[in-house]
Amino acid sequence: MKVFKSIEELNSNLITCQKCPRLVKFRVEVGINNNRFKGEKFWSKPVPGFGDIEGEFLVLGLAPAPTGGNRTGRVFTGDKSAEFLMKNLFEAGFANQPFSIKIDDGLKLHNTYITAALKCVPPDNIPTKEELENCSVYLYNEIELMHNLKVVLTLGRIAFDSFKNYLNKKGFNTKDMKFQHGMHYDINGLRVYCSYHPSPRNVNTGVLNNEMFFNLLLEIREYIQKNKD
Ligand code: SF4
Repeated sequence: MKVFKSIEELNSNLITCQKCPRLVKFRVEVGINNNRFKGEKFWSKPVPGFGDIEGEFLVLGLAPAPTGGNRTGRVFTGDKSAEFLMKNLFEAGFANQPFSIKIDDGLKLHNTYITAALKCVPPDNIPTKEELENCSVYLYNEIELMHNLKVVLTLGRIAFDSFKNYLNKKGFNTKDMKFQHGMHYDINGLRVYCSYHPSPRNVNTGVLNNEMFFNLLLEIREYIQKNKD
């Protein structure tokens, strides 16, 4: 696996990546064919992670949203999932403001880095196994660059499985790790939490609500505070 020595080196490689032909095509098409944001120039490239790579907390999503990260160029920015996530991160003390609407909106994350398992928007939010495998080089390098990492919050099953694959590659046994909202696993000093993804579908149908998600963030905050070096 290619190893990047810094997040800057990783991101400069990432944003020109063309490894997945289906996604390279789709990330451009969604920008051209979008009526809601007609006239707006979409980012339409792989979307880098955002926040503090030296932080202790990693929030791992699935992929950029068509009119979220793929439009604005920042992960969890400019869509409904971002709205839900940032409101809760702010209230739990992990962000300086409760909104994430555009790349220059002043958002800063505290002790936290956010990224996605797949860096390009997939059709219907469903990546192929091969695309996830292609993109894992970036995710694994980001995780390796988080030297202070203590807690990972995986948003949805695909993010959870992607993190498990990383652990498997590192030689850890993950066979007892099952996706269940609110569940956590301790592996080699690292705590891995599961949450339903804050997608509009999950939030609108009540699968995930603010209270459930906020409580999880409070538990994580408390764990980080208790385990300060
Ligand atoms: S999904 Fe990842 S590997 Fe595939 S083209 Fe985008 S950045 Fe490259």
